[in-house]
Amino acid sequence: MKLTEMRDLLARRNIQLTKSLGQNFLHDANQLERIASAAELNATDKVLEIGPGLGPLTELLLKKSGQVLAIEMDGRLVEVLCERFAEQLASESSPQLELHHDDALKFLQREPRDWRDWKLVANLPYSVASPILVELSAGSRAPKMIVVTLQLEVALRLMAPTDDDHYGILTLLVQLDFQPRGWFKIPPGCFFPSPEVDSACVCLVRRATPLLADEKHAAFVKIVKRSFSQRRKMMLKLLKQDWPKEKLEAIFAELKISPQERAEKLSLEQFVALTEKLLLPD
Ligand code: SAM
Repeated sequence: MKLTEMRDLLARRNIQLTKSLGQNFLHDANQLERIASAAELNATDKVLEIGPGLGPLTELLLKKSGQVLAIEMDGRLVEVLCERFAEQLASESSPQLELHHDDALKFLQREPRDWRDWKLVANLPYSVASPILVELSAGSRAPKMIVVTLQLEVALRLMAPTDDDHYGILTLLVQLDFQPRGWFKIPPGCFFPSPEVDSACVCLVRRATPLLADEKHAAFVKIVKRSFSQRRKMMLKLLKQDWPKEKLEAIFAELKISPQERAEKLSLEQFVALTEKLLLPD
C-alpha cells in the first residue's frame, strides 16, 4: 500500500488519526517485505497480527501464510479492513482472515489460547507493546515466533544482554521463554505520519526447552520485579521484603552470588536458579 493510497483512503473517509492509539502506518514496501521475511512465513503458518491499521502488513501476511487472526481497536479502521479484505473474510467454512474489533490486550487476557502453533507478526501500537508482549510470551502456550515492530528503546530492552543499560524486567520476562534472533532499525520516514521516536523490528524465537516450568513463572516474575524495583540497590536487601533473610543468604552463597550484587549483574540463568531454590520447601 503506497503512501498516496493511504492518504487518499484516510481523506476519503475523513479519518483523523489518533495519536494515543499509536496510529503510524508503515507504507515502505521494502520494510514490510523485510518484516514478513524475518517471520519466515509459509502457506501452513498461522499468524496473529495486532493492530492491522489500514492493512499494509495484513496484505502481505495473507499472501505468505495460511491464516491470519487480526485484532484492531479502532472501529473506523475495522470498517476499512472489512472492505479491503472482504474476500478473505467471506468464506464461511474457513476464512483466511479472522478480524476482531477489540482491545488486543483485553482480548488476550479474556481468551487465553494455545498460541504454540502461531507466529505473532505485527507493527504494534507502541503504548501497549510491552504489556502485550509480556502477556503473550509467558509459558508453554506462547507463539513459536515473535516478529514485531516497536519503539527502538523497547527493542533494545528485549534484546539486551546481562549488565547492559537496557537489561531489566522486560528483558527477563520475555527472554525467559524467547531467544532474540535479530533486529533492524526502521527509519521514521517509512511511516505515515512519521513517529517522534525511532523504531525497530525484532525477531524472537520461542526456546525449544523451557527454562522454567509454567507453575514457577509467577514466582520468577515476583523475584525479577522486586529485584529491579530499585535498580541501584542490592537485590538481596530488596528480596528480604518477600523472602526470609536466612534462606536468601544461604541460597546466594550456594549460587555464588555476592550479597552486595545488584539485579542488573545477574544473568537470566541465575534468576532461574534463584527461583528454583527459593521455591524449594524449607
Ligand atoms: N499494522 C499497521 C501498519 O503497519 O501500518 C498499523 C500499525 S499502527 C503502529 C498500530 C495499530 O494498532 C493502529 O491501527 C491502532 O489503531 C491499533 N491499536 C492501538 N491500540 C490497540 C489495542 N490496544 N488493540 C488493538 N489494536 C490497537
